[in-house]
Formats: sequence, structure tokens, C-alpha cells
Amino acid sequence: MKSSAHVVVIGGGVVGASVLYHLTELGWTDVVLVERKELTAGSTWHAAGGMHTLNGDPNVAKLQQYTVGLYREIEQRSGQNCSIHMPGGLMLAGDRERMDWLRMAQARGRYLGMDMEIISAAEAKRMFPLLEEQYFVGALFDRAEGHVDPAGVTRAYAGCARQAGAEIYQHTWVSDLRQRSDGTWDVITDSGEIHAEHIVNAGGLWAREVGRMIGLELPVLAMEHMYLITQDMDEVAEYNATTGHELPMGLDFDGELYIRQEGGGMLLGTYEQACVPWSPRETPWTFDQQLLAPDLDRIAPSLEIAFKHYPALADVGIKKVINGPFTFAPDGNPLVGPVPGVRNCWVACAVMAGFSQGGGVGLTLARWMIDGDPGEDIWAMDVARFGNWASLGYTNAKVRENYSRRFRITFPNEELPAGRPLHTTPVYDRLTAHNAVWGAGFGLEHPLWFQRPGEEPREDVTFRRSNAFPAVAEECTTVRERVGLTECSNFAKYRMTGAGSAAWLQRLFTNRLPRPGRINLTAALEPGGHIVGEFSVARAGPDDFFLFGSQIAEAHHSRWFLGHLADGVRFDVLGLSLVGLSLAGPGARDVLQSVTDASLATEDYPFMAFRRIDVGMIPAHVGRMTYTGDLGYEIWVAPEYQRALFDLLWLAGQPYGIGLFGFRALMSLRMEKMFGTWAREYRPIYTPAEARMHRSLKLDHDFIGRAAVEAELARGPARTLGYFDITPDAAEPADVVGDEPIWHGGAVVGWVTSGAYAHYSRRSLAFGYVPSELAVPGAMFEVEIIGQRRPARLLSEPVLDPAGHRMRV
Ligand SMILES: Cc1cc2nc3c(=O)[nH]c(=O)nc-3n(C[C@H](O)[C@H](O)[C@H](O)COP(=O)(O)OP(=O)(O)OC[C@H]3O[C@@H](n4cnc5c(N)ncnc54)[C@H](O)[C@@H]3O)c2cc1C
Repeated sequence: MKSSAHVVVIGGGVVGASVLYHLTELGWTDVVLVERKELTAGSTWHAAGGMHTLNGDPNVAKLQQYTVGLYREIEQRSGQNCSIHMPGGLMLAGDRERMDWLRMAQARGRYLGMDMEIISAAEAKRMFPLLEEQYFVGALFDRAEGHVDPAGVTRAYAGCARQAGAEIYQHTWVSDLRQRSDGTWDVITDSGEIHAEHIVNAGGLWAREVGRMIGLELPVLAMEHMYLITQDMDEVAEYNATTGHELPMGLDFDGELYIRQEGGGMLLGTYEQACVPWSPRETPWTFDQQLLAPDLDRIAPSLEIAFKHYPALADVGIKKVINGPFTFAPDGNPLVGPVPGVRNCWVACAVMAGFSQGGGVGLTLARWMIDGDPGEDIWAMDVARFGNWASLGYTNAKVRENYSRRFRITFPNEELPAGRPLHTTPVYDRLTAHNAVWGAGFGLEHPLWFQRPGEEPREDVTFRRSNAFPAVAEECTTVRERVGLTECSNFAKYRMTGAGSAAWLQRLFTNRLPRPGRINLTAALEPGGHIVGEFSVARAGPDDFFLFGSQIAEAHHSRWFLGHLADGVRFDVLGLSLVGLSLAGPGARDVLQSVTDASLATEDYPFMAFRRIDVGMIPAHVGRMTYTGDLGYEIWVAPEYQRALFDLLWLAGQPYGIGLFGFRALMSLRMEKMFGTWAREYRPIYTPAEARMHRSLKLDHDFIGRAAVEAELARGPARTLGYFDITPDAAEPADVVGDEPIWHGGAVVGWVTSGAYAHYSRRSLAFGYVPSELAVPGAMFEVEIIGQRRPARLLSEPVLDPAGHRMRV
């Protein structure tokens, strides 16, 4: 065994093997993989090996596409048979809503180049004669679905990596990890120590335990999962004989099951409602290529549906039942990337679909380690999308919810209940008393909208307009015509202090820093010129900055800032030590002025001012800005003052017709003002020139990514963020939710990033990226909404108050 290596990958399942392979592919060959038993000894060996490209997040779907496309190459290069079967797959819909969902999935796949086809139930029956047509209304057929041999694939990755110089030590258990002061690692194993610059935790079923070796609690939980294999079936033999090929795979949403041919019989797996976590606190090190006791009673409800939907199954014997554990993160997507706050420590775990995702996970992690950037938008898989709040208990609740809903539709306006409420701010009870309908982001509850008094605070889930529509319309009117009050604690808030913080931030930010007492908007870029983050920078003093950004990216952005930290700068994540309320609308100044001695006249307190003032008796930092585009103030206080502040403003606002508004109204109002948002319009795959962030871009100073920006500005960006006015279907109006394809001249040319119905202007609006040469004001496009191509006109300016008078009065 080597005593030192550039990288030690811990875990020889399909994911660890893929990481090792990709590291060597990208040029790091002094790499080793350490496996406590044999390759595949965790959840990999007993997997059903199914793979598909469809995923709720298009960026993950792209990586799944990459994974599925990789198998032939590694098979050929390693000489290891992967048993690749590509019969295609049917996603079977039992009702109209599922059909809508499939249409949306097909549409989303279009701009990723996915070849998927909507077919009738009769066509599905012809392709898959085992099914009973009456239970289905149609299907989506995806040619890129298939299955592989899990052990073959793992060995093929390992074989290719070995050819390139990687070493693999089996029957070698990593028992401890110790970091040296220079950030390198001593990897302690039962066969000796390896000194490594980087470690990768690909421990699969034991990823949690490997994390604990360095005091890290990863949000991972294993669940028991069952599939069964039938005896050979005449129906299968007949199909194979007459068609000359294997049956396609099937995904049956109503039965919560998947089905495919295995040899001469069928393989049937299910995500049962009565799901069971496995080893919820600690995975035993003694568990080794074992299966769990089958429990057919637990999956009986799904089996009953299976026997109805595929009657031939009812009469065939079961050859084998597999029950094995595999791991999930709270939202079902993998945990990948650098561990926040720990140098040279990487994870690639919680990969619940190793044969769809393993390749993409390995590729992006290897790029991230070698190039400092994953090279793709992998926000949906970034380990930093969870914070410390994702405890063992939270993870347990969320994973069980997610597992049991694996084949359910999650509607764009749906808020899932498990693990909530977790974080609440002091005004939670006040807003609940006002009939708030709550949503959650990064563990924190935030008000979505306010139901009318006496009615149940609940939103009907739908792809179309919900029961929230009229209430949100009223909230928008309140803001635009009188004054609205909302909670704005769900921003990430950071504070940078210390001599040198101004110089440090200036080097990170594309905009010039604001003067003390002022706020401005800025972006931060990576060296290649892609957007790392988008922030409001409030300067409280020469070397005292408050930064407001996307809350869901709090751990992600802090990791980035800390990774660039300069000597003498203090960086604090303020979290809920700073909470806020926001007043917006023409009456906002009158309300606030009535409770403060500070003059709020524009000449004393202009647009984008940031001051420390008293509001009533409450010490506050107040920024004159709002995301609604109105005259407005964001008032930031320590949490112990928030309730008093709420009561004060609410009372003071009564003469001015104050009303509450929530996040849905905010999204509607910001659309009218053409304000983009992080994670939708601004993401790491876009550049500031593409995203039209020109106002946040000043080329009068040096900043990370500047050379790339200049080069792009000189040649012009290839694509541009467009702002569209959509004509929805009159009979059944639906607005965009994001990721819809944009058509032009009969071809898909772009995609929607986000949108909303702009209640005050009565227009359905969307943002989306299109080729720059097509981004001509007034140009007509079509946006595909639930299977219908709706006209979309490209606008050049906000539909409301394009000159921005409202904010500046
Ligand atoms: C019944 C069942 C059916 C499935 N069907 C499918 C399917 O059809 N399609 C699909 O894509 N996925 C399927 N899966 C999921 C799939 O098995 C996982 O996605 C995949 O195996 C995860 O691989 P991994 O490498 O992350 O983890 P693992 O396979 O668990 O590998 C982790 C490895 O790390 C090693 N290790 C851990 N700690 C240490 C240590 N301290 N020192 C040394 N070595 C260590 C372990 O021994 C283990 O070999 C299924 C799972 C089950 C249970």
C-alpha cells in the first residue's frame, strides 16, 4: 500500500469507483481508492441497475444523460462486461394530472435534447402487452432508459482507473481521519496510514460514519427497499419471440412501482408508503454484502395494484425477493462537493440512483477538485444546499416523506409538511394569527400569502392558478396603492468587518463598493466569468459591510467567501441573529416616519440609503429599498425586537390602509419590475453579460472573472436573458413555473427560468434565456406551458414604472 497519495477515495461502490475513474480521466493519477470489503460491498451489489435520464432538475437530468451515455465507453475500454440493456422506458400515467406532468417533463427534456414521446394508452399497451389498458390514460416513452449490471459497471470504472495508474486497496478499512495543520490528511486504515492532500467520502451506507470521523453530521439516511423477480413467464417469452427484443421498462406512478424484464421473467420494485429507515442512527461496520429480511406484507398494497395493472403477474411464482438498504439526502438528490468549513475534504454520497447519476457525480466532483469548479450547474446536488439545521431527526422525517412520495407529483406551488416547522422567527405566531399560509426554505418558515379571515390557510396544489390567486392579487394592490408589510428574514445575511474588508470585497465584486451609508447591487464571479452569487451590499462604515443574498445559498456562498478570505477580515453569517420586516408601497414613508425621529425625506434618506436609526424604541439598520420596486424600507433588527417592531408598524400603518403580503405577491411584484432572482435568472451557468447585469458591472476595478467578462463583452454574449409577456390559454389559464422550453421558428431555442402572473399589471410574465441574435424587442416566441405553445412577446423594459420613479420618490 502506498504511504502517500494525492487523493484517497473512501468507498468502492459505484460512486467511489466513478470518482476514481474521473479523477484519472482528468489527469490526476496519483489517486487511490480504499474499500473495507470488496468493490460493490455496500448498496451497489444488490441494486436493480435501472437507469433513466428524467429528473425534476434539468441540470441533474443532463448529468444523468451523461452517465447513461458513458457505459459503452467504459465497457469497451476496461474489457469488463456491463450487461447494457437499452429497451427504453414507459412512464405510465393514470390520470390527467400525471399526463400534464409528463407533458411538462417532455417539454423540459426538449432543450436538453432528450428524445421523449407522448403516446396513448393503446400504444403503451402495444409496446408493453402485460399492462391492462383501462388503468392508464397515456404514457411518455423515453428511448434512453435501460439497465446495467451494477457490479460490471463498478468494475469497469475501476478497471479504467487502474489502467491510468490509480490503485485500489480492498479489505482495507478506514478507521480514522486526521487533518494536519497544513490541511492535508492522515488516512488511518487497518493496513497502515496514507498521507493525502484530499479525501473523498464516497462511503455510501457508511458515509455518515465516515463524516463523523471528522465531527461532521451529514444529512443522509438509508431506507430499506424491496424488489422481486418472478419465475419465467410465457407472456415474456412470446413477446421476445415475436418482437425480437426485450420488453421496455415501466414506471407506474399509481402503483408507486417500477417494472422491467429480468431474464425470462419480470422484476418489480416499489417505493412503499409504509417505508422503513434502516439503521437510522448508526450503520454497523459488520454489515457486509448482506440482504435484509423481505417483508411482502409491507409492499402488499403496491402488489395488489401491480396484479390489477399487470394481471399476468398474479399467476406467476416469485423466484427471488431482494430487500436492501440504500441512502438518501432529505430531498432525494446526491450530496456532492467540498464540505463547507473543512479544507480538502469532499463528499460524493447519498446517491440514491447510482446507475443514473454515478457518472455525473464523478465527473463534476473530479472537475471541482481539479479545476476548482464543477463545470456544470450542480446546485441541486451541492452538499452546501443544507445547513447545520438538517439534523438527524430532520433528515429522518424528510427522507421518509421523500421516499414514500418518490412517484408522486410535487406541484410547483406545493410545500411538503415533513420536518416543519423547524426554524421560525419571533413574528411567526403574529403572522399565523393573520392566517398566513407558510412555506419553508433552508429550514426557515416564511409567509407565502395570507388567507382571508375565517377561511382555512391552505393552498390547493395545481399546475394552474390556485386558490391563492385572488388573495395574492389583493396583496399586490395593497402594496402598489397603499402600503404592505412583510417579513424579509428569509435572506442570507452576512457581515464583513475589519481593516482590509473593503479592499477584499472590492476584489470579489463586479460593482464598485457603495459609499458608507449606501447600498448597491453586485455580482461575484468565478475566474471563468460565471456568476457565483448576486448580493445587495450595504456599507455601514468604511470597513463594515452587511451583505444580503439568497437564503437557500447561505452555506454555498459562505463556503465561497471563506475560501477566499483575506487576513484581517472577519466574516460572519448572521443567520437569525438579524431578522427583518419590510414596508413597501407609496405609504411606506408615512408609516415609518410616524414612528421614527430620523428624517426620511428623500433629501435626507435617499433611495439605497442604509442607516442605523431607532424605530420607536428599537435599534435598527434600515435600508431604503424593496424588491417590489416601490418606495420601501427593509428594517433589520435583533430577533428580540422583531415582535415589538411588527406591532409598532402594524398599528402605525392602520391610518394608511396597511396590509400584509407574502412571498407569492413579492414574486409577482418583482416580475412587473423585471427583477431577476438567484437560482433562477442568476445561476453559475450564466455570465453577467448573458444575465444583463450591466448595472452591477463596473470595469473600473480589478475583480475575479474580469478578463473573462471583458472578452465576452467584446464578442457579445451568445445568449441573453429575455423578459416575455405571455398570452395564456383563455379557457384554462396557466402561468410558467420555470424550465419550460421557448420556441421560435418551429424549434426550441431556449428555456424559461422563472415567471409569474403580474397581478397589478394583469399580465403573465416570464424570464428566459434565448440566443442573443433572436433577443430583439417585440420579437414573438412561444413558451410551452403544460403541452400548449403559448405566444410570448419579448419586452425591452419593465411593464410597470420602467423609469423607476416609484422607488425614488
Ligand atoms: C434493492 C435496491 C435496488 C436498487 N436499484 C437501483 C436501480 O435500479 N438503479 C439505481 O440507479 N440505483 C438503484 N439502487 C441504489 C444504488 O444501489 C445506489 O445508488 C448505489 O449503490 C450507491 O452507491 P455508493 O457507491 O454511493 O454506495 P455503496 O454501494 O454503499 O458503496 C460504499 C462503499 O464504501 C465502502 N466503505 C464505507 N466506509 C468505508 C470505510 N470507512 N473504509 C473503507 N471502505 C468504506 C463500503 O464498504 C461500500 O462498498 C438500488 C438500491 C437497492 C437497495
